[in-house]
This record gives sequence, structure tokens and C-alpha cells, in this order.
Amino acid sequence: MSQTPLNLTSLGSINADGSRRYIHPSDVKGKCTFWRRLTALVLLVVYVALPWIPVKGYPAVFLDVASRRFHFFGLTIATQDLWLGFFFVTGLAFALFFVTSLFGRVWCGWTCPYTVFLEHVYRRVERWIDGDAAARRKLEDAPWDATKIGKTVLKQGIFLLISAVIAHVFLSYFVSIKGLYKMMHETPENHLMVFGIVTFLTLALYGSFSWFREQFCVIMCPYGRLQSALTDDNSLVIGYDKKRGEPRGKVSDPNAGSCVSCNRCVQVCPTGIDIRNGLQLECIGCAACADACDDIMTKVKRPTGLIRYDSWNGFEGKKTKFVRPRTIFYSVLLVLGVTAFSFAFKSVSPVRASVVRMQGAPFFIVDGVVRNQFLIRVINKRDVTARFKFVMEGNLPPETSITGLDEVMELPPLGEEVKALVLAIPEDKFQVKQTLKVRVTDLESGSSSLTRAMELLGPDPRLKNNAPLNAKDFIQ
Ligand code: SF4
Ligand code: SF4
Repeated sequence: MSQTPLNLTSLGSINADGSRRYIHPSDVKGKCTFWRRLTALVLLVVYVALPWIPVKGYPAVFLDVASRRFHFFGLTIATQDLWLGFFFVTGLAFALFFVTSLFGRVWCGWTCPYTVFLEHVYRRVERWIDGDAAARRKLEDAPWDATKIGKTVLKQGIFLLISAVIAHVFLSYFVSIKGLYKMMHETPENHLMVFGIVTFLTLALYGSFSWFREQFCVIMCPYGRLQSALTDDNSLVIGYDKKRGEPRGKVSDPNAGSCVSCNRCVQVCPTGIDIRNGLQLECIGCAACADACDDIMTKVKRPTGLIRYDSWNGFEGKKTKFVRPRTIFYSVLLVLGVTAFSFAFKSVSPVRASVVRMQGAPFFIVDGVVRNQFLIRVINKRDVTARFKFVMEGNLPPETSITGLDEVMELPPLGEEVKALVLAIPEDKFQVKQTLKVRVTDLESGSSSLTRAMELLGPDPRLKNNAPLNAKDFIQ
């Protein structure tokens, strides 16, 4: 299938007739590639190691959904505190906006897990088995002989195995390494749901990294779509220095610019674009083209940097401004986000108490006493055993009898317990709008949690004296 000439209105991964053109980028060497590979290696080690590193008795990152507890580097967050995630996620988004406004799609090309796995794991395996770009293209067009079948089975088998490993590493963030090990030594029947999730994830990763590939960045990733709104003429991007490169021509041509039309920058591009056409949505900022072009420039004894990290203004010969309204705005948002997160985080109490009315009748009247029954739930969010005392707060009459609050409650680390609370008030002392709150205090740390106000229910005294009813008295 002939390839569509690359321009700003075409996609390098789609043929003229709309069919998919598989991209086989050539391997490249250079300083950006070296640092990018090193970054990817560090990230891969971090991804795999986090569930193995114990911090305060839990994995460094352990999203224990089953127990509704989330552990981050020794900090434990209960589901009740997940609202903190709002500040965390918006803070991350603002940080990403800020970094993008300064350095363009550096996240995509250098640190996005999708790129890390695709470029530095799957693609490396493919190069090892099938060879470099030319050999891969040749193999793609070759008939299905023993060599092609053998290579395909080996490559796809390894891809499937890697996908299964990634799926299991991902699962270990939710069940811990210990839990994963235990599950792997039992039959899938005992953990059907988890088995189903891992199987689905393995197949999804396999399909994505072996077949869908760069299409995820080009057509699916929302951040890829957003980036053009976050950058401007001063953001650092990978670009081609048109002034220096054009007109393209042979090395021997004294009237030609620096670009020798070798097409090496196109051959190494993982999204199949020609950066000489200008900044494009498909560019993930991986700098492979910059390294490839530097290599060519060195060979033809011309200065490197024809394709380089620079701002659009830089390419135009103007000065790049790092401090500008956009970066100031994003940094203010970032500071506000970090401040809000810090305040929100400080306000999180290590104990949480809540009160609800018991199911059944809202109140009982026995021997002239109105009885209200509640359930108090206490959650110890600390990872040490804690003892709690209960104090009633509210406008209850002194004759109120309280049952259930006199004993100290001991809870294990991250434990929770529900206890009954019964309030009994003589019927003649019962008034409407009597409310109660319970303060639960940790005896060791002194921190406490106050429940929301609960209203006592009972017969309305205003209905008892046979006085004519006045609707105004009953409007709450
Ligand atoms: S690698 Fe450099 S010299 Fe070769 S085509 Fe690309 S821009 Fe031109
Ligand atoms: S144009 Fe260059 S930086 Fe952009 S994706 Fe292609 S190789 Fe990477």
C-alpha cells in the first residue's frame, strides 16, 4: 500500500485508502535517547518495586480496596478521607499544566507509563526478535514461511507474557505482594473476580502494546488532545529549524540549507510524522528525531541542533520567555492547589465517628419514658491500637438516661467498631428539637471527632394539651 505523503492534514499511520499503516520506527542513539532510556529504566524499577518496599508494615503504595484503606509511604487514608484525592488530582493536573506550558509534551515522551512500556519494553523485544525497521518491514511483507511463523509466535508469546507480568504487578498494588503470592498458589476458582480482572488486563495490555500502539497517543489520550491548549510560542517543543534547514538539498549543494533530505528524522519517529512540517498533535516530544538528525549533522560535519528542543519563538530567532502570563497563572493555580491540599490534609482527623438512628421505629415509649436508639461507628485511622472515650454534647434535659457511652472502646490499628447508644427521657421532659452530638476522643493522642447532630424523636408535647392547632407552630 502506497504511503500518503506526510503533511499537516495526513496521518503517518494511515494509508491513502484509510487502512492502517504499521509504523516501524528505526532505532536511534543520542544523548536524549540515552537519558530517556535511563529515565524509563528508573521508572520501570519504581513501578515494580513500590509494592515490595515495606513502610510502617505496609507496602509503600497499597490501595487496599477490600479493607477500604489506602497506604502511601507510611500514610494511611481511610475511604472517609478520599475527598483528599480531589485536591491531589487537581494539584497534579495543575502541575502538569505548568510543566506543559514550559516544556511541552515532556510527560508524553519521557515519563508516561504508556510510552515507557511501549518504547522501552515491547519495542525492544520486537527489535531483538525481528531486527531493525527495514528487517521488520521485510518480515511484514514476507509470505508466512517457517521463519515468519517462528518469529511471530516467539514475539507474540513474549508480548503476552510481559502483559501478564504487568497485569500482576498492577494487581499487587491492590492486594499486596503477599496477597498476590497467596492467590497465585490457590485455584482461580477461589478468586474468580480477581482472575477475571487480571485476564482482561493482560489481554487489554497485549492488544494495546502489540497492535494498537501509537494510535492510543494519536487518537485516544485526552492529554494529547489538550496539550495544544496548554502550550504557546514560548513553550519548549521538539521542532525543526526551517530557517537553517531550507531549502533542502545535497551536502555538495552550496545553495542548499542544512537539511540533506535523508528522511532519518521520519524513519525514527514512533508516531510516523515528519517534524519538518511543523508542530503536530501526534508528536509526543520523544526527541528521537532530534538525536537522529544530530547524528546526520555530525556525519556531514554541520552543527547539530537542526531539530532540537526550543520554543517556536526560539526557532524564529526571538527570545524565549519563561515568565509569562500563562506560566504565572498556572504556577498560581499550582501554589493554590498545594496550599489547599496541605490545609485539607492537616484537617484530617486520625479518628472518625458517625452516628445513625437504629433501623425500625424512630422512637419507643415504655412506662412513660421516650427511648431513642442510635448506632455509633468509630474508625481508628492510626496504625496503632487506640482507646477512645465518649462524651455527649447537646441540649438534653438532665433527667436523660444515657446507655452505651460509659465504657472506653479499644480498637486495633485501622480497626472500626459499631456500638449502640440508647437515650431515655421521661415523657413529660421531652421537647421537640432536642439534639445530640457525640465527641469521640483518642485517649493517647488527644485528637477527637464530633458526630453530626441527631435530633431526638418522640411524641410532640404541643399535640397533648387539646389546645386548638396553629399551623405556624408546626412549620420547621
Ligand atoms: S534527519 Fe535532519 S537532515 Fe535528515 S531529513 Fe531530517 S531534518 Fe533533514
Ligand atoms: S516528531 Fe520527533 S519528537 Fe515528535 S514523536 Fe516524532 S520523533 Fe518524537
